[in-house]
Amino acid sequence: MGETAWREISLSAIASNCRAVRAAVGTGTKIFACLKHDAYGCGAERAAAILMKEGVDAFGVVSLADAASVRRGAPGKPILMYPGIGPWNVDLVQDLDLTISISGEEDLAGWVLTGRPLRAFVKVDVGLWRNGAAPSQIARLLEICAAHGNLVIDGLYAHLSEFGVAGSSAVEQFARLTTLLGDLERGGRLPETVMISSSDSLLSHPEMDMDAIDPGTLLFGLTGSHHGRRSISVHPALTAIKARIIAIKQCGDSMGPPPALPGYRKDMRLAVLGIGWGQGLPRHLRPGISALVKGKRVPIVPPAHLEHLRIDITELPTAELGDEVLLLGSSGTDRVTLAELAAAWGTDEVGVSCGLGGNLGRIYVT
Ligand SMILES: *Cc1c(COP(=O)(O)O)cnc(C)c1O
Repeated sequence: MGETAWREISLSAIASNCRAVRAAVGTGTKIFACLKHDAYGCGAERAAAILMKEGVDAFGVVSLADAASVRRGAPGKPILMYPGIGPWNVDLVQDLDLTISISGEEDLAGWVLTGRPLRAFVKVDVGLWRNGAAPSQIARLLEICAAHGNLVIDGLYAHLSEFGVAGSSAVEQFARLTTLLGDLERGGRLPETVMISSSDSLLSHPEMDMDAIDPGTLLFGLTGSHHGRRSISVHPALTAIKARIIAIKQCGDSMGPPPALPGYRKDMRLAVLGIGWGQGLPRHLRPGISALVKGKRVPIVPPAHLEHLRIDITELPTAELGDEVLLLGSSGTDRVTLAELAAAWGTDEVGVSCGLGGNLGRIYVT
């Protein structure tokens, strides 16, 4: 396709991760596949299509751009909008057949005012301290909805906080939800679908599966070394990051002295790759990181530029213009894993996958 740099996404990894999640939760729990941030960098349209084929029940996204991609990939499937849009988006909500989230009386009032028939989930905040109404406000929100005919409440959901010891424990948050559910049930206002568990709790708290789950990172194999009480074997969907050699040169005296930076030498053979921090590489790459060319490790020589990156091919005389260089992936018998790359880039697996620029093309492999 003439690209100078691209990422490779394995659709079969997404499919098999989804099957592993389904096998863990069984058929009694719906899967809402969370495809936010363009499916964690994997491309929401293709991800939605493969996940629909694997039998997920619905999708969750934040942005309307992602909602439009998911709608193209998965016609007819429910799409839950996490908080991020408002009543001013009502036309698109109807055109794309989206389910909105209600997080409080202010946004509810706006949606009611549109007068349009809408499907909604109520979002409750059980310790995330972000979006969602406090548990004490939920009954009132449901009353307002019942009083206005245009909003049908299909479900109630929460997202667990990721504050670790700095916030409520998952168990404490879950207890707030179950208390609320008890109250709603007694008042005859319990919505049909209740959902709280996403990737971390799926692995660690099987008791939180409930009517539905909404995992994201797990479906894309980005949970890294997280091991919980339930083992769900997943593989990264992001399998390679590749760039071609677009220039090669033998360095020498006529260029002046080499920069006084790690990795530069007077007589080195240098290759330039058509990828840089503009495509999501870290702006400040540390020295000592390698890439793979023709199955061999060669040093990456920082700094990264907006669209360019240097490698030292002194020890690999067979390297040629146009060669594929792997920042991530397998070449010959060697391999740079996503965990290795994440460590080299000073982030984690999700950070790599979501940090790649939308301008870095995607090639889907099986
Ligand atoms: C991001 C998100 C998810 C998915 O979380 P993972 O940890 O990626 O599984 C689920 N629900 C909501 C509301 C989210 O914002």
